[in-house]
Amino acid sequence: MDECVFCKIVSGEINNEQIMESENFIVIKDISPKVKGHSLVISKNHYTTFLDMPSEIYEELLTTVKTAASKIIKEVDADGFNLIMNNGETAGQIVPHVHWHILPRKKGDGFKIDI
Ligand code: 5GP
Ligand code: ZN
Repeated sequence: MDECVFCKIVSGEINNEQIMESENFIVIKDISPKVKGHSLVISKNHYTTFLDMPSEIYEELLTTVKTAASKIIKEVDADGFNLIMNNGETAGQIVPHVHWHILPRKKGDGFKIDI
């Protein structure tokens, strides 16, 4: 995927602050964080949405999310966290390369999710 910004981050063409890496995923800081520590878990291969991702890497995904969330929560001294995934433009997905948002939360941070 020549024009995909996340593929460029994975390949190193675009520089980024990387938090951790597993066999099939990287975890980076979001370029425009909604809260302190806002990070993204990105698949190394290009899949557009969750439905395109092969089930063989589900377990590794969850382990990566858990390890990254624990690390980030400690770093920013958060009280909790949200995991968010947007799939498809209608659902708010801007970058069409599968990713999970890790949003560490602190009392009074002013960030609101209405679901
Ligand atoms: P989406 O709406 O697709 O779920 O979210 C895409 C996220 O990627 C946004 O939070 C946006 O700030 C982040 N993002 C877009 N381009 C870059 C980039 O070049 N580097 C990083 N670190 N984050 C990016
Ligand atoms: Zn991509």
